[in-house]
Amino acid sequence: MRLENYVGGQFVPARSAATLDDIGPATGEVITTLPRSGPEDVDDAVRAATTAMEGRWGRATVAERADLCDAIADRIEAELDRFAALESLDTGKPVQLARTVDIPRAVSNFRFFAGAVRHGRTSMHEMDDAINYTVRRPLGVVGLITPWNLPLYLLSWKVAPALATGNAVVAKPSEITPLTASALADVVHRLGAPPGAFNLIHGLGAEVGQAMTEHPGIHGISFTGGTATGKRVGAAASATFKKLSLELGGKNATIVLDDADLDAHLATIARASFANQGQICLCGSRILVHRSRHDELVERLVAHLGTLVVGDPRDPATTFGSLTSHAHRDKVESYVRLAREEGGTVVYGGGRPVLPAPLDAGAFLQPTLITGLSPSCRTATEEIFGPVVSVHPFDSDAEATALANSVRYGLAAAVFTEGLTRAHRIANDLQTGMVWVNCWLKRDLRVPFGGVKDSGVGREGGDYSMGFYTQDKNVCIQL
Ligand code: NAP
Repeated sequence: MRLENYVGGQFVPARSAATLDDIGPATGEVITTLPRSGPEDVDDAVRAATTAMEGRWGRATVAERADLCDAIADRIEAELDRFAALESLDTGKPVQLARTVDIPRAVSNFRFFAGAVRHGRTSMHEMDDAINYTVRRPLGVVGLITPWNLPLYLLSWKVAPALATGNAVVAKPSEITPLTASALADVVHRLGAPPGAFNLIHGLGAEVGQAMTEHPGIHGISFTGGTATGKRVGAAASATFKKLSLELGGKNATIVLDDADLDAHLATIARASFANQGQICLCGSRILVHRSRHDELVERLVAHLGTLVVGDPRDPATTFGSLTSHAHRDKVESYVRLAREEGGTVVYGGGRPVLPAPLDAGAFLQPTLITGLSPSCRTATEEIFGPVVSVHPFDSDAEATALANSVRYGLAAAVFTEGLTRAHRIANDLQTGMVWVNCWLKRDLRVPFGGVKDSGVGREGGDYSMGFYTQDKNVCIQL
């Protein structure tokens, strides 16, 4: 299996014929190759997308666009096992996680935006002697750039609203995890979607992503990735006045108050920290806990981590897989060393698990819990994006909020308490785009998703996505 780009309804190699290897992180073996595309391939894709907007796809009705999204959802759902196996192979995540979370959520993204566009509303404003009606039109050609942690889930979160609202798409997945994006292109192709409505260009961020953000034929960029990359994307995209959505990094706090019900919520607190090996932008990588519950929480978390099954991601019994690349594992591991230098005590994990061949060559790292660190040290304030979590005691609700807000990021937070008034107060004072109370990653596709401070600009989800991928036009009629 060799991956190719998908441009104008055809599967093609990079014009240069250059390729990159796609490595399976659980074993270090090469899975396949993918095109190492360049600006000339981005040009081809933008040309195909522009032609699609001028032709059949640009004239597609709401029903046709919604039907296409529904058909994509149905196809992915019918091939759930294949998609889950590909996602697990590419990312090292447990296949069971891909089967129950990543792929079903991608399916619901397509279904949701099919429904949203079918039931969309526009506005009318009446004057004494005139009426105004406002229509929503697609942006045109949109560039979608996505990271490696939730490859199909995050790509579909952008492709679905972009297609539903009538845009032509040029998508670039992370070159580390290209498999399910190619499988999506294959589905689009088999469904006979109008050529050029969906284009996929594989390659490196600095080559393909950069060319997309600079391209004058792309009218909007939706980017999910790290904060440093987001800064580059923002600078490049603003030169050609592109509409921009930036979903960036986080250093989220999980706040456990003195009255938290740990019997009910311990598993959720652990999942918030370690799901997908801690590689979810929403993971709570700092646990702030009332001093009176600190030792109890640490003890119970350590016991819980001991129940995780670390191993072969293909095994349905595995609950904790490998990290998504060796380079990333090395970076995450460097934070364990840093935490020790900064005076932390590793109370669970901290090393590489001992696994049989070929997994011994994989990018595995144990789930790692650290106590005794200052909340202002580097380990506790920089985004690690892996299974390395620090625990910090506090003495009052005000101190918990201040600690949560003390980092440059502001994506999400979770609060665990039995006190409704305290939960409301803390949720109000947290400088984040999202707050969960007594839950985590509970998902309603209508609500705004996004961060404040260095965690991003703009919101995705429901009407926020529909607004991003469209521009409003007002028509005023004199009566
Ligand atoms: P990344 O290095 O920023 O890469 C994200 C995407 O941008 C990849 O497709 C990458 O391509 C591409 N890219 C790199 N340089 C570029 C450039 N100059 N111009 C345009 N595109 C470029 O992030 P990552 O390491 O893949 O993902 C982890 C980060 O994503 C974490 O910080 C995490 O918090 C964040 N994230 C945020 C959210 C959210 O919703 N807020 C969700 C998930 C992840 P290459 O892979 O080829 O470099």
